[in-house]
Amino acid sequence: MSGPTIHRLDEATVAQIAAGEVITRPARVVAELLDNALDAGASAIEVAVDGDGTDRIQVSDDGCGLSRTDAERAIERHATSKLTDTDRELTRISTLGFRGEALAAIADCARVELATNDGSAVGTKLVVADGEVQVSNAGRPQGTTVTVTDLFKNRPARRESLAGQAAEFGRISELVARYALARPDTRFRLVHNGNETLSISGNGFQDALLGVYDAETASRATTIYHQTDLDGHPLTVSGICCYPSVTRSTREHVRVSVGGRPVTDTGLRRAVIAGYGSLLAGSKYPIAAIDVDPPAGTVDPNVHPAKQEVGLTAREAIESAVETAISEALTTADIRRTSEAATDLGTPLETVDRSDPFAGVRVIGPYRDLYLLCEDGNELLVVDQHAAHERVNFERLRSTLAETGVPTAQLDPPETISVSPAAAAAAESHPELLADLGFDVAPFGGGTLRVAGLPAPLGRVAEVDLLRETLDQLAAGDKPTDHREDLLADMACHPSLKAGDRLTHAEAETLLDRLGECEQPFACPHGRPTVCSLDESTLAAGFERGSTRFR
Ligand code: ADP
Ligand code: MG
Repeated sequence: MSGPTIHRLDEATVAQIAAGEVITRPARVVAELLDNALDAGASAIEVAVDGDGTDRIQVSDDGCGLSRTDAERAIERHATSKLTDTDRELTRISTLGFRGEALAAIADCARVELATNDGSAVGTKLVVADGEVQVSNAGRPQGTTVTVTDLFKNRPARRESLAGQAAEFGRISELVARYALARPDTRFRLVHNGNETLSISGNGFQDALLGVYDAETASRATTIYHQTDLDGHPLTVSGICCYPSVTRSTREHVRVSVGGRPVTDTGLRRAVIAGYGSLLAGSKYPIAAIDVDPPAGTVDPNVHPAKQEVGLTAREAIESAVETAISEALTTADIRRTSEAATDLGTPLETVDRSDPFAGVRVIGPYRDLYLLCEDGNELLVVDQHAAHERVNFERLRSTLAETGVPTAQLDPPETISVSPAAAAAAESHPELLADLGFDVAPFGGGTLRVAGLPAPLGRVAEVDLLRETLDQLAAGDKPTDHREDLLADMACHPSLKAGDRLTHAEAETLLDRLGECEQPFACPHGRPTVCSLDESTLAAGFERGSTRFR
């Protein structure tokens, strides 16, 4: 089998390449080795780290491997299989590496052992230490294992600048998490001092989230897929985002990658957060991972020495696509969850213990696909179909919640807020009422409260300010407004019929039936009317007729 053919880049190409020190800490070694494993087409990658990483870092993959000649060339500076002199357009590069300097740079400051097999009968083992290279045979299946030991042994200043075992391994762990979320089809395993700390099966985004977080977090997330057009070429945004009820207090849990390359990109991260709009509680940040795949030629991977940032020529369009992708995914997820309770007009509501106000009403037909005109004795009824459907959905959601209770979104970590003495006293004397409303709050002394949970009916988290308002109402002796209703009203709006949705005659009749079963059929949940009526006598007056009847 023939592996990739490695050659040295010419001076002109080398001069183009963003220069800078590549290996600054153990996590950088891991990043470069992961890049190489992924570029080799690996489907499973294992990273093993001892101590802070200077003791040992080993990355094994089941990728294409290297022939003996290529293995020897691989460790030379500016030797790469990924960029040819005739194809120097870095913006068209689809691999993570392209500079041909990582292995050389690692070998400069550590002992490197490379065992590889490209599918031949015998593999190759290369040991590079103190500028000397030893080559021997290695028995191993196809793939490559790179073992780096004695990192920075000859660089005491570098070694000094490291942050200790926990911090350095923390960086490595976060790095592997970022790669796993950027490459959800690859299997990743991370072992520290012999113990497995991360295991990801490579079965998609949900699975990656499960590995990086836990089952609970993964179950409260929705996948993202959004494609749009960028000057005639497709721009794809894919990934996964947790419901707004799952939050963290830093933005580090929003991870972005471009074409499968994890990057630090403030703009893209901001776009993800913007996609959540006002759904996030106070100063909370979401958990999300997105991969943006812009058309070839629009990404410059060569703007940062460690390749942690990329240049995007269509940044504005890309950020706006990301924001749309997130908000669409969350709306779809909302609809999916609310639709379990709502939107199906076929099932009657349960609260039918009084006469139907619309009995005997005859549907005439739609007007501007916005209103339903109906005849009710000597009145002409005009029904706003969106408002009517909202009312129906709202009452369904409300009765579902009455059965299951108001879910509370746990704040992790809890927030401490200071309130007026009166509000603090109100919190102390009404713990059950607050719990009923979905608040998890406890007095913390000195006029402060510890807020561990906020009401989140169907994944919508309320703001902390809602708690202040509620406490003020309690302190004033008022029955607190049930804010669940406001949240529910917004929820009911999402899956409701929109202006321009054409209803068949039968659907229009069903909508009217369901509206008739509501407790409050004449107002939408936001308080606007659902039905207006026009008396026949008004028409008669308009037509200057003395009587309402034709004779
Ligand atoms: P670059 O990735 O920029 O090409 P590197 O120094 O990281 O430069 O690697 C040099 C070459 O060695 C790569 O172009 C590739 O051909 C080969 N190589 C490195 N690691 C692996 C691996 N894990 N599997 C297969 N080939 C590899
Ligand atoms: Mg590389």
